[in-house]
Amino acid sequence: MTERLTADIAVVGAGPAGLAAATAARQSGASVLLIDGFAKAGGQYFMQPRAGATGNSQSEAGRQAIAAANEAAVEVLSGIEIIAAYPGFRLLGTGGGRSIVIDARAVIAANGAHDRVTAFPGWTLPGIMTAGGGQRFVKLNGALPGKRVVIAGSGVFLWAVAETLLDKGAEVVALVEARRPSVALASHLLCFPERWLEAASLYRSVSSRVRRLIYGRVVSKALGSHRVEEIILADTRGGPSETLGNFDTLLVGHGFQPNIEVTSLLGCKHRFDDGRGGWHAAADQDGRTSVPGLFASGEVTGIAGYRPAALSGTLAGIAAATDLGFSSGTCRDETGRLKRQLTRARRFGHGLGRLFAPLPVLAQQATDDTILCRCEEITKGEILSAVLEGSDSVHAAKMWTRAGMGRCQGRMCRMSVTACIAEATGRSPEHIGFNRPRVPCRPVALADALVAFEEATEGQT
Ligand SMILES: Cc1cc2nc3c(=O)[nH]c(=O)nc-3n(C[C@H](O)[C@H](O)[C@H](O)COP(=O)(O)OP(=O)(O)OC[C@H]3O[C@@H](n4cnc5c(N)ncnc54)[C@H](O)[C@@H]3O)c2cc1C
Repeated sequence: MTERLTADIAVVGAGPAGLAAATAARQSGASVLLIDGFAKAGGQYFMQPRAGATGNSQSEAGRQAIAAANEAAVEVLSGIEIIAAYPGFRLLGTGGGRSIVIDARAVIAANGAHDRVTAFPGWTLPGIMTAGGGQRFVKLNGALPGKRVVIAGSGVFLWAVAETLLDKGAEVVALVEARRPSVALASHLLCFPERWLEAASLYRSVSSRVRRLIYGRVVSKALGSHRVEEIILADTRGGPSETLGNFDTLLVGHGFQPNIEVTSLLGCKHRFDDGRGGWHAAADQDGRTSVPGLFASGEVTGIAGYRPAALSGTLAGIAAATDLGFSSGTCRDETGRLKRQLTRARRFGHGLGRLFAPLPVLAQQATDDTILCRCEEITKGEILSAVLEGSDSVHAAKMWTRAGMGRCQGRMCRMSVTACIAEATGRSPEHIGFNRPRVPCRPVALADALVAFEEATEGQT
């Protein structure tokens, strides 16, 4: 039986952005539904631990944001994934045996980001996971993904992951950063004194406890019979490779990619910027997109971190409610102050994003028989053959080979397939494009999907 719900504003995603957006919109007088696929509100940064697992300072900050939403009487639907979104606005959600059709006058997409995944020979071996996945193990379950861990990739997030694992008692055998320490990074940090303490404390905490800090190398191959046992680290400047062993788990992360399923399904404009995680929803500071009534906030608008996510959420919540005729009671001075804070916080996050953007050498590690699309088991060689036959975009590659047509709808292979086509054709990622998701945009039981579609398409063209 499908439930029908209505609200002035539906907010998709209950991370820092969605919680702030829902709270601000509700405080303005709009009725608000806040929907999240996770079992508990909080999103990635504010992730709430499972019962019995201990939290950390991030989950504590999250508890406060969740309490504020509850106090404002936001209606929270946890454990419900949005699997379809139609203009107008109608959303379909499923989870925990429930099928829900939501009609709303405005939508705020605050559905965050996911790990940026790169393919290299052996990357599908057991014992290898994304950096975000490894951290989630600890934050959600209070359990370690492994005892002796190598963390490799690029970006400050690797340090946060290392700290989480070290605090939980893991041995971090090596932290391998693709970039080398640079003057550009030091100058960027110098411009943001408000972040010095945090940066210094993270550096001290991690560098004093990891066994080895390695710069200027990327994982070029993982070896092992049943699970990962060794990795080859290539020098990004072409120097000799190094073999690393004696670990049980490899976590690889090259930053995040915005989740653009909801904004794509609702048809707003997107832009490409490698420093912001690639394709993201184009929105102004109030979160207004090119589609009237559709707002975007947080990482959906480009990777920048949890501070700008929360600030952009508040602004989107206020703007969405105001556009529907509610009065937020927030004076112009206050929104002006929030916007100045948002500009600065984004400048910091986007600057880091540019400094740690994926290096071209990453795409060169996959060989012809390396699987790029895991769901459909499509290799780099198959993508290259498709390119030779004229396929020069991710959409064409999907039509030719089925890459990106599986359960994850290209979330995992988008970066590798794009890089492969870019390398072979010389086209920019912007021209190679992205695949618009198909409904259902998340894997769900067929029965759930059928019931929801019948209800949702009733009376619609
Ligand atoms: C795995 C991971 C770990 C991270 N860890 C850190 C960290 O330790 N420190 C740090 O500074 N930054 C971290 N980040 C970066 C993080 O994106 C931001 O700092 C911050 O959480 C962004 O807030 P947000 O509200 O935009 O998105 P998120 O916090 O990601 O919240 C988005 C929410 O949307 C929900 N959602 C997504 N799709 C759907 C759907 N279809 N239906 C329903 N709900 C949906 C998700 O369940 C999630 O709760 C992490 C990011 C990821 C992907």
